[in-house]
Amino acid sequence: MKKPRALTVWVILAALSAPPAAWALAKPVRLLAPVLNGMTCDGAVCVEEPARLAEAAALYEDALLKIAARGTPLQQRPRMAFCSTDACYRAFGGGAERAITYPWLGSLIASTSWAPHFARHELIHALQAQELGAIGMLRKPAWFREGMAYAWSEPPPEDMPVQFAPLRAQFEAWLDGTGQRRLWHEARRL
Ligand SMILES: [Zn+2]
Repeated sequence: MKKPRALTVWVILAALSAPPAAWALAKPVRLLAPVLNGMTCDGAVCVEEPARLAEAAALYEDALLKIAARGTPLQQRPRMAFCSTDACYRAFGGGAERAITYPWLGSLIASTSWAPHFARHELIHALQAQELGAIGMLRKPAWFREGMAYAWSEPPPEDMPVQFAPLRAQFEAWLDGTGQRRLWHEARRL
């Protein structure tokens, strides 16, 4: 769920300048074509274990609906890759976090993170990129970026990290004052 800014930019530059090298060196770039890394995909949803494709698709579709219900639907279907093993997660550049979204590339879900709130959290970051631009979104304060993702994904208490609770509270207070209708307009000014 952390957004490695420098890494992301480097990944994109590497992908543009030297695709074969980028493929070997920049693991998140593999999200551009997960099937080349052993995944099975149906549209935007990819899985390591083909038998779990329907389960992953259900998590994805539910997350899209829940986000749209907040007022701003995703206009595209960002890629989301669901791993069943740690090796898979690491192969796509994942680290110690539970899930991660790389702007322009897609989201990666760890084997222990197959739950509705993780899918929602990562698609909320995709929504932020849609509304603010990938660079613009990365430049917003953490209380907005992560606060919103935690507030709107509604994790159960055991998956609400204590260090993010103040950011979530700050976003919720800001949204109370701003109002849903002006949310993105005001967010662009942050
Ligand atoms: Zn996050």
